[in-house]
Amino acid sequence: MRLLERMISGEYERVIAFQSAVCGLRGFLIIHDTTLGPALGGIRICRYANEEEALEDAFRLARAMTYKVALAELPAGGGKAVLIDHPGLDREAAFEEFGKIVESLRGRFYTGPDVGIRPGDLAAARRSTNYVACESSPELGDISEKTAIGCWQGVKACLDFAGIRRPPRVAVQGVGSVGMWLARLAHRAGAELVVADVDAGRARAAAEEFGAILCSPDEILFAVCDVLSPCALGGVMRSAVIPRLRARIVCGSANNVLESPEAGAMLAARGILYAPDFLVNAGGVICGGEFHLLGIRDCGPSLEKIYGRTRRVLEAAAQRGVSTAQIAEELAEARWRRPATHCSV
Ligand code: NAD
Repeated sequence: MRLLERMISGEYERVIAFQSAVCGLRGFLIIHDTTLGPALGGIRICRYANEEEALEDAFRLARAMTYKVALAELPAGGGKAVLIDHPGLDREAAFEEFGKIVESLRGRFYTGPDVGIRPGDLAAARRSTNYVACESSPELGDISEKTAIGCWQGVKACLDFAGIRRPPRVAVQGVGSVGMWLARLAHRAGAELVVADVDAGRARAAAEEFGAILCSPDEILFAVCDVLSPCALGGVMRSAVIPRLRARIVCGSANNVLESPEAGAMLAARGILYAPDFLVNAGGVICGGEFHLLGIRDCGPSLEKIYGRTRRVLEAAAQRGVSTAQIAEELAEARWRRPATHCSV
C-alpha cells in the first residue's frame, strides 16, 4: 500500500521521517496505536533498496507490534523504527541522534534491538534517551533468549496439538540471536536439528554445538522436518514456497513470516500448523514491557502462557476452519480496538 493510502486510512497514529546530513542518519519511526499504552517496538537497521521499501517495512512491523503486545496482554501499543544502513553512515553519531528523536516523544515510544543492531548501537542511543533497552542488561538478561523461550513454548504447543510425542526434527532458518537460542532449547529437549544461515560461520557454529545437520540457505525451507522455524527475515511463507514445504509445523521468531493473508490460508489448506509469529515471538517484548511498564522482574510465568495461547488459537482455527493467523488477529483486535473487552486467550 502506498504512503498516501496508509495515511488516509488513519490506521497509523504517527509517521516520523528523519534525516541528518551530518551523520547520514535516514529512516522512519512509526507509531501504529497507543490505545492500551505507550508504543513498544524495536529498531531495525538494514540496507534497503530505497526509502519507500524502508517505509513499507516500518509500517508493517509497527502494525504487527500492536497485535503482538495486545495478545501478550501488555498495557501497551505498537510502533517500530527503521534506519537505513548505507556506506556514508556514521553509526555511532546516527544512533545518538536517533536517541534524541525517541526522547522527544517523552515515553510514547519505548524501543530496543531488532535485526541489524550491533554491539554499541543502543548504548549510543542511550546517551540521548532512557526509552531504549539494550540487547542485554543486568536486570533483563538477554532479550533474544526470552524471545526464543517464548517461541519454544509455541513449538511445544504445536507438537502437542499435532500429537507428535517423539523428539522432533527441527529445521532452523537463521541461527542469529534468536535462532541460536531456539536451536539450543530444541537440542536440550532432545530434538534433531537442521540449520542454515547465509553467514556460514554462524551455521557451522550451530552445527558444531548441537551436532546439527548443515543445510544450504536455499534448501532449508524445504527440509524434511516436524518443525520449520523461520528465524531470519519475514515474508518467507509465500505462494511459490508453501506447496513445496515438507514440514508439519511452521513456528519461528521472524516477524511477518506470511507474505500475505492468503499465505496463512494456503498453509491451513495444506494441513500445516502455523503458529502466528506475533503470538509466539513476543517473549522479548513481554520481558521488556513487563519490566519497564509494570516493574515485573521475572517474565518466566508470562512466557509460559504462550503455550496455552498457542493451543487455544490452534484449536479455534481447527474448529472454525480458518487460518490461525485470522484467529490470532481477531483476538488481538478484540483487545486493542475495544479496550473494555477482555481478551480471553
Ligand atoms: P539476527 O540478525 O541476530 O539473526 C538473523 C540471522 O538470520 C542472521 O544470522 C542472518 O545471517 C540469518 N539470515 C538472514 N537471511 C537468511 C536467509 N535467507 N537464510 C538463512 N539465514 C539467514 O536477528 P534476530 O534478532 O535473531 O531476529 C531474527 C528474527 O526474529 C527477525 O525477523 C526479528 O525481527 C525477529 N524477532 C527477533 C526478536 C529478538 O528478540 N531479537 C524478537 C521478536 C522477533
